[in-house]
Amino acid sequence: MNVGIDIGATKTRIGIEKDGKILIEEFYTPKENLINFLFQKLSNIKFEKIVIGIAGIVNIKKGEVIYSPNLKIKNLNLKDILEKIFRKEVIVVNDAIAASIGEKIYGKYKEKNFVYITISSGIGAGIFIDNKLILGKDGNAHEVGHITIDFNSRIKCSCGKYGHWEAYCSGNSIPNFVKYYAHLKGYKIFDKIKSAEEFFKIYKRYEIGKEIFKLLQIINAKAIASIIHLYDPEIVVIGGSVAVNNKKLINKKLIKKELLVRMPKIGFSKVKNNGVLGCLEICKNNLKLK
Ligand SMILES: [Zn+2]
Repeated sequence: MNVGIDIGATKTRIGIEKDGKILIEEFYTPKENLINFLFQKLSNIKFEKIVIGIAGIVNIKKGEVIYSPNLKIKNLNLKDILEKIFRKEVIVVNDAIAASIGEKIYGKYKEKNFVYITISSGIGAGIFIDNKLILGKDGNAHEVGHITIDFNSRIKCSCGKYGHWEAYCSGNSIPNFVKYYAHLKGYKIFDKIKSAEEFFKIYKRYEIGKEIFKLLQIINAKAIASIIHLYDPEIVVIGGSVAVNNKKLINKKLIKKELLVRMPKIGFSKVKNNGVLGCLEICKNNLKLK
C-alpha cells in the first residue's frame, strides 16, 4: 500500500493505493502543525512508501521544503521527520511537478514535449522535454510563478519580491492586484473583495472590472508565451482552480500574438486530483518516469 499526499495552499488531498484501487480524501490544509495533522491522518494506515507533493521550493534529494510562502514554511525537512515517525520511505516533491505527472499519465494529452501550468492559490508548472521530466539541481525547474513580468513593479509577490507573475494572476494575489489597479484609476468598488472568485462574479458589471480582467488575460498570455519560448512544447495543459473555473483568463489569440515559435496546442486539465495521482505514480516509479 502506498500513500500520495498533495499539500496545496488551500486543500490537502490524501490518496491511498491498495491493490490497484485508489481512495482519495480531501481536507483543508492546516494553518499550523502540519506534521501533527499528517501523523493523525496516517497513524492507523500500514503503508510502504509516502510521496508528498507540496506547494513551494524543495530540495528533492534532502526531502526538505526550503520555502513555501503560501504555507508559511521555511527549512522543514519533511522526509527526515516523517521517516523517523513512520520508519518508511518518504519522498518530497513540488506539488506542480506531481500534478504534471498525474496529468501526463491520466490525461488525454500524451505529447513528448509537454508543459503543465497550474494557476490556483499560487502558480507553478511541470515540464517534460522528450518525455523526460525536468527537475533541475534541487527539483525546482518549474518555478514559473516567479518569472518577472514587470521589473519596475510595486506589486509584491507571496515570496517577498516584486513584479512576479504570481503577484498578479494567482488566486491569492488577484484581490490585491484588483484593488491596487482600481485605486490607481480612482475606483474603490473592489475594496471589499476577499477572493479571486468574488472578483470574477462581479467584474462584468463595471468597465474598470472588464479592464482589469483584460489585463489578467494579457499578463497570463505574456507569461505563458515566455514559457513556450523556453521549452517549445507541443501541448500546454492549463490546470488549477483559478484558470479551470475561469477559462477566459487564458486567451489563445493573445498568446499567439506573443509567439515567435509555432503555436502549441493549449488544453485544460480534466484530471481530478492530478497531484495525488502523480504522487502515487512516483511511489511506483520513483522519479524515473518514461
Ligand atoms: Zn515571487
